[in-house]
Amino acid sequence: MSEKKAITIKDLTVYYGQTPALNSICLNVEEKEYLGIIGPNGGGKSTFLKAILGLIPTIQGEISIFGKSFKENRGTIGYVPQFTLFDRKFPITVLEAVLMGRMKKGLSPFFKYKSEDKQIARELLNKVGLSSLENRQISALSGGEFQKMLIARALAINPKLLFLDEPTASVDAKSRDQIFSLLEELNKDMAIVLVTHDLMAISSQVKTLACLNKTMIYHGEPELNE
Ligand code: ADP
Repeated sequence: MSEKKAITIKDLTVYYGQTPALNSICLNVEEKEYLGIIGPNGGGKSTFLKAILGLIPTIQGEISIFGKSFKENRGTIGYVPQFTLFDRKFPITVLEAVLMGRMKKGLSPFFKYKSEDKQIARELLNKVGLSSLENRQISALSGGEFQKMLIARALAINPKLLFLDEPTASVDAKSRDQIFSLLEELNKDMAIVLVTHDLMAISSQVKTLACLNKTMIYHGEPELNE
């Protein structure tokens, strides 16, 4: 068994201008951990994911992913951002949206996907239960279908670590159950970090829980109390 943690964070501090968003956060995430992150709105949950992904600058602290920097691990983290950040009217099909997850940095404008990419994208659509919708425009998906498509897209790089920012926020009850079953299955192969307000996720899904309100208030068993 590898000794490497999926994530090691020491003393992470993030400011937006003069305003602190995260203050001196320390956290370890194990290789097959399924971590739920809860906290009040504005508590810094999304900021925390973005900082680990290198999407925003940090003031101080160290973040290592499988013992290395994020840059050396770019291909190992899948990210499902908040639903609301997407332009759902963008004119592409479900298959094309998942294929975008296969795109590498620094591509030429004449880039063409290989047939292997299409095969992988189709396998992922099958995995999330959207095979029959591959040619549908993303604007014509329900909330639950859209979210599953985003998960397939995040899986397109075959990640060892998957971040999801409130994946059940805009979905119906059936899709929510399907998403949780899928995450349980995925957790056999990868660590999952799930930002959520969903009480069911906290009580019956995640293996560990962290509570974030600018500082790390709690990290341990998924118990809900004051
Ligand atoms: P959460 O995900 O827990 O709701 P966020 O990480 O989105 O919290 O936000 C944490 C704090 O940082 C909030 O006060 C929010 O207003 C602020 N914030 C988030 N993004 C930005 C930004 N791009 N510029 C300035 N302030 C921001």
